[in-house]
Amino acid sequence: MENINDIRTGFGYDSHRLVEGRRLILGGVDIPFEKGLLGHSDGDVLCHAIIDSVIGAIGLGDIGRHFPDTDPEWEDAFSIELLKSVIELVRLRGFEFLWLDTTIVAEEPKLSPYIESMKEAISKSGIPSGLINIKAKTNEGMGFIGRGEGIAACAVCLLKKV
Ligand code: MG
Repeated sequence: MENINDIRTGFGYDSHRLVEGRRLILGGVDIPFEKGLLGHSDGDVLCHAIIDSVIGAIGLGDIGRHFPDTDPEWEDAFSIELLKSVIELVRLRGFEFLWLDTTIVAEEPKLSPYIESMKEAISKSGIPSGLINIKAKTNEGMGFIGRGEGIAACAVCLLKKV
């Protein structure tokens, strides 16, 4: 049996405000919509939740510590690139990916047609697409998500010491 000390989980959550005049980028995919997510980077909540889950699993704090939103280097950064550098940290720390499960919560637009493209885009960061699951749901009209003020995402990853 595997040594349980060699198995790590990580959890990530993120939310961003929806505003006019921004592109909507989720999971590295440009999605046609009248609004986009406000953020210092591209505002990709799914990638940010994944990044936080991975950073959590390797015990290195949070996304703000690695990519401060006061740093001009990350302005309008493509979050898949940020994720790529975090996946490199996973490798350097001697871990490998076992699984990534995620949920996006958005009232609009309908995201199911873009799930496969998101997996493909996220896999460019180094996580094999066969180890990625993405779910999308609405918030049943409730709260800030239900009113269309923002989008949130959660991610859980499982890593193993190589
Ligand atoms: Mg964020």
